[in-house]
Amino acid sequence: MLRLPSFTYWQPTSLKEAVAMKADAGPDGMYVAGGTDLYPNMKRRQQTPATVISLMGIEALAGCGMRDAGCVVGACVTLSDLSADPAIRQHYPAVAHAAELVSTPLLRNMGTLGGNLCLDTRCNYYDQTYEWRKAIDFCMKKDGHICWVAPSSPRCWAVSSSDVAPVMVAIGAEFLLVGPAGERLVPAGRLYHNDGINYLTKQADEILAEVRLPSADGWDATYHKLRRRGSFDFPVLGAAAWVRWDGDRVVDARVVLGGVASWPQEVAEAGAALKGRALSDDAIAAAAEAAYRPAKPLDNTDFDLSWRKQMTRVYVARALQELRERRNLQSR
Ligand SMILES: Cc1cc2nc3c(=O)[nH]c(=O)nc-3n(C[C@H](O)[C@H](O)[C@H](O)COP(=O)(O)OP(=O)(O)OC[C@H]3O[C@@H](n4cnc5c(N)ncnc54)[C@H](O)[C@@H]3O)c2cc1C
Ligand code: SF4
Repeated sequence: MLRLPSFTYWQPTSLKEAVAMKADAGPDGMYVAGGTDLYPNMKRRQQTPATVISLMGIEALAGCGMRDAGCVVGACVTLSDLSADPAIRQHYPAVAHAAELVSTPLLRNMGTLGGNLCLDTRCNYYDQTYEWRKAIDFCMKKDGHICWVAPSSPRCWAVSSSDVAPVMVAIGAEFLLVGPAGERLVPAGRLYHNDGINYLTKQADEILAEVRLPSADGWDATYHKLRRRGSFDFPVLGAAAWVRWDGDRVVDARVVLGGVASWPQEVAEAGAALKGRALSDDAIAAAAEAAYRPAKPLDNTDFDLSWRKQMTRVYVARALQELRERRNLQSR
């Protein structure tokens, strides 16, 4: 049985207190929300904080409500609550759908939106016990020097495996970060780096406090997930598609892929292939082809990597076909 290492556990009740505790704990301190990612990682000694600061007792991070210009979701709302929330289901079905595709009901009851958006990147050579990793002399993401996926690579290629992050980038959500220097609002896409180790642009002492969803008028979005077991598994490919409509014409579009890079990867060429035209078979095929080209899955997650790359074309096409069908139904 894998056991947690010993650590100090603090439970602040305000953001200010949490940030002060993190300053006291220094680099050996980490925030935790539901703990469904951090605690297993601690058991495998992938992450080894001496102090863990829980965000779950902070009222400002709870709850979800519609505002004039959209919806504000607290980072500690659980994925179960998020996907069951009537306003989210009605106005942001892609968000509800992505959240309910995460893992299992038990983990969704504990796991939070903020934890999902800050989820550690994954790799077959990293998501192993300490002893397994030691037997191969570790890798550069933790305790070692080499990348076993690409041994001559100077960087880590561990994969962004959050289901909700690609949707947030696609719909143009914004994240409120709170840290010692105050608050700042960043577009969802700007939270991420394409680097398996430094995969977040946020500072370690910053808390993701709120997720601001844009007004739900005039656009539609969806998320399609490829995984080995339909009952539960991390995505090996996620395809989020967002289109803004003017009648039957697409005036703006974004296609964002999960599971193919160290960040949720927006494929600008795929969005550009859709702009200014109806969502015809040709437009969908052009966008799917554009998404296929830059998707470069590596051999560090499930399934054969060339097959996963092929699936990018298929999943992007399916996502766009779903949006077209929904539009057709609405205009009948
Ligand atoms: C068996 C299993 C299957 C899983 N399957 C999936 C899956 O299919 N799809 C998927 O997306 N995920 C999956 N997960 C991962 C995880 O359960 C979810 O992503 C969950 O939403 C993580 O949320 P959490 O609150 O538990 O995060 P935690 O474990 O509490 O935190 C995760 C990371 O985020 C940081 N963090 C958390 N909240 C904040 C905040 N508000 N501000 C700043 N930093 C923060 C923590 O410091 C930590 O680094 C799976 C996990 C397991 C164990
Ligand atoms: S991609 Fe390379 S460095 Fe990164 S976790 Fe995997 S083996 Fe380690």
